Amino acid sequence: MPRIRVAEIIETLSRTYGEPKGPPSLDPFHLILWEQVAYLADDARRLEAYRLLEKATGLRPEAIAAAPRSTLLRVARHGGAIAAEDRASRLKESAVLVLSRFGGDLRAALRRLPVAGARKALRDFPMIGEPGADRILLLTRTAPLFAVESNGLRVLLRLGFGTEHRDYRRSYQSVMTAMEGDLPSDYEGMISAHLLLRLHGQEMCKRTKPVCSTCPLHPKCDYAIGLRS
Ligand code: SF4
Repeated sequence: MPRIRVAEIIETLSRTYGEPKGPPSLDPFHLILWEQVAYLADDARRLEAYRLLEKATGLRPEAIAAAPRSTLLRVARHGGAIAAEDRASRLKESAVLVLSRFGGDLRAALRRLPVAGARKALRDFPMIGEPGADRILLLTRTAPLFAVESNGLRVLLRLGFGTEHRDYRRSYQSVMTAMEGDLPSDYEGMISAHLLLRLHGQEMCKRTKPVCSTCPLHPKCDYAIGLRS
C-alpha cells in the first residue's frame, strides 16, 4: 500500500517542475512516428530525428509511404543506431497502414471507433503496445485512459504502487491496478500526471542512482525509506 496518494504526487511534482512539456504534436499518426523515429534516445535527440522526418515529408502519410529508403534510414539513424533499419521500415509500414486502412486520416478513424476498437487499431502499428496505445488515446484526448511510459512506471513502483515483475506488462498492470480509484478524473489531470511522472523519472528518479536526497517525494517513498530495491 503506497504512503502517498496520486493527487499529492502530482501536486508535489507540479510545484517542482511547473507545467510539463508534451510531445511536439497531438495528432495520433505523428505520435506513432514520434515513438518510431528513435530508440533509447533522449528527448532532444528524438526531437531532432522527428524534425528531420518532418522536413523531408511534412509528416504526411503519402509522403512517408513514397519516401526513398535512404531518407527514412537517415531519420532512423539520427534517432539512434539500434534497430535503425527496422525503424526505417516501420515508419513506412505505418504510413501505408494509415493510407490503406484508415483512409489517410487516423484521427478521424479513431474517433469513430469504440474505445476497444481504437486501442486495437493502434496496437496494429509497429512498436505500439497496449500502454503505447493508451498513451496515444490519452494525449490526443480520444479516450480518458490513464497511461504511463517506462520512466513514470519506475517512479510509481518505487513509491509503492504495484509490484515489479520480470515481465514489463505484468509490472505495468499491477501498477495500474494499484492506482485504481486514485486517478485524476479528467483529461487535463491525467495528461499532467503522465507528463510529470515521465519528467520525474528522467530528471531525478533515474534508472540507476536516483537522486533521492533532493527528491520532494522522499519522505513518502518506499524505495527511499529502504522498503523497495
Ligand atoms: S525518493 Fe528517490 S526513488 Fe523515491 S521517487 Fe524520489 S527519486 Fe525516486
